[in-house]
Amino acid sequence: MTPKLSKAAVLYLEPHSGEGHQFAQCGTCRMFLAAKKRCTILGDTEIGADDSCGLYVPGSAEKSAAVSAAVTPKEAGLVRDTKVRCENCEFGGESKCGHPALGFPIISTGCCNAWSPKKAYKAAPWLGER
Ligand code: SF4
Ligand code: SF4
Repeated sequence: MTPKLSKAAVLYLEPHSGEGHQFAQCGTCRMFLAAKKRCTILGDTEIGADDSCGLYVPGSAEKSAAVSAAVTPKEAGLVRDTKVRCENCEFGGESKCGHPALGFPIISTGCCNAWSPKKAYKAAPWLGER
């Protein structure tokens, strides 16, 4: 039997500071500069609070944080206006992840980089591979 991947392998995260249904969106990421509509690591790419990417880290950015093009939007897996939590995932809906390579306990507002839109959820097109 093929071993399952760990939470760490797919960067599964859960909210710890009341982000709730805003969790895993740029608006609650420590790289998001709301006034500038920029991410501190994605250079000149305009970013909205409902976007997301595979490099999400919860928190708040310093308003004076510098912006640099450390990675491209494609490398980061940037998606527009897409709610990348377990509650909107093809493999969510139960107390354990239903992804065949995963299977660990989850909560509805958790997220990971294996997120896939469930059929009932209309996700925006991918800008890059995740
Ligand atoms: S693009 Fe990624 S790293 Fe940048 S603010 Fe959004 S989630 Fe965070
Ligand atoms: S339900 Fe989806 S987003 Fe949540 S852990 Fe499983 S694959 Fe990742």
